[in-house]
Amino acid sequence: MGAMTMAEVGIRTDARSSYYFQRELETMPREKLAALQLERLRATVTNAHEHVPMHRARLDAVGISPGDIASLADLERLPFTRKTDLRDHYPFGLFARPRDTLARLHASSGTTGKPTVVGYTAADLDTWADLMARSLACGGARPGDLVHNAYGYGLFTGGLGAHYGAERLGATVVPMSGGSTERQIALIQDFGARVLCATPSYALAIAELAEQQGVDLARSTLEVGMFGAEPWSDAMRREIEARLGLKAIDIYGLSEIMGPGVACECECQSGLHGWEDHFLFEVIDPETGRALPEGQPGELVITTLTKEALPMLRYRTRDITRVTTAPCDCGRTHLRILRITGRNDDMLIIRGVNVYPSQVEAVLVGLPNIAPHYQLVVERRGSLDHLTIEAEAQPGVDAAVYGAAAREVAHHVKSLIGITADVRLVPISTIERSIGKAKRVVDKRPKEA
Ligand SMILES: [Zn+2]
Repeated sequence: MGAMTMAEVGIRTDARSSYYFQRELETMPREKLAALQLERLRATVTNAHEHVPMHRARLDAVGISPGDIASLADLERLPFTRKTDLRDHYPFGLFARPRDTLARLHASSGTTGKPTVVGYTAADLDTWADLMARSLACGGARPGDLVHNAYGYGLFTGGLGAHYGAERLGATVVPMSGGSTERQIALIQDFGARVLCATPSYALAIAELAEQQGVDLARSTLEVGMFGAEPWSDAMRREIEARLGLKAIDIYGLSEIMGPGVACECECQSGLHGWEDHFLFEVIDPETGRALPEGQPGELVITTLTKEALPMLRYRTRDITRVTTAPCDCGRTHLRILRITGRNDDMLIIRGVNVYPSQVEAVLVGLPNIAPHYQLVVERRGSLDHLTIEAEAQPGVDAAVYGAAAREVAHHVKSLIGITADVRLVPISTIERSIGKAKRVVDKRPKEA
């Protein structure tokens, strides 16, 4: 390794687009990346086999020992891990390190049953901070920026994940957490935030309250939004960009794998770079479990390559997407995951048609008279599923035209998505605003046993 340039050591440069937090790793030639992945995959399988009884039993059952991993193609022979495995081994059963050697725990609340608990060694937290700093820089944040962090702090990985990443980058963090929206608006302006971290739905709620208060955040110091933790459409992206006057960047992660910073868009906004020196990404057919060729849509499966406390072998994310290894204009060599518009769990099947909430969102955001706040209510009527879309009218729209506007929405939903839905228009601020992940679906169908 030769002498490092200014950008490599993390000094702010004027050429924003050529800034990398870890240049050498982010632009590593793909053959070299593959060699690193193979070495790390062997170490991960060894870690899982030696320290986690569930992984050992499953690897033994298919006759694979860590020494059998000869190439990355052998990944396909490894058993999958699912979210239910975490629940079944609640709370610490999948940890590869004793609890008293861990630095931190996080947990996500499940809608049913026990939460999933994840653990980190000090080294895991160090890697996470690096990857989150890398992601923030990838999206356009720079050392010295003021980062307003409106992700919730606590057991949810969003708040602390963004927090330590921003510190690692060399930014100044405002640890705001979610809620107190009025105060958020005041502090963004008073402190001069350049970067806003939030869920996309909460970013929109901030924009909306600001407008009601006569504050034009589009003219504020905000330039970059790092938005994630829920699927959102490109139409929503354009809406948020216009209302907040910033570049809206999609960031991806999940606590079972690490937290935010597993993948992140660059300033090209053409897919999320998945950090392949720390994770192996596959796309599989969710029905057969077979790996799909590059470019085909399927379920994203992730294997961790450097996690000490919680190594994950072929974790089924239930997120449906495609990946590409085509070169990106930003110069990063890591593959790109196309924006995730739906998760298997969120997919609704309405009379045989698969529907993701983000598809409905994309229709709503494009229409006049309609505000981008909505909820999908699913009920069983007789033997059929019935969908009602509740959407808010823009402020100032006369209630007398709600009926006609609702029919227009129903028409577009039918012609663009192919489903029949009742549409109910309600006045602005009727649908509850979320400070974290938005609740897009209210499922009133009877639960099957
Ligand atoms: Zn790129």
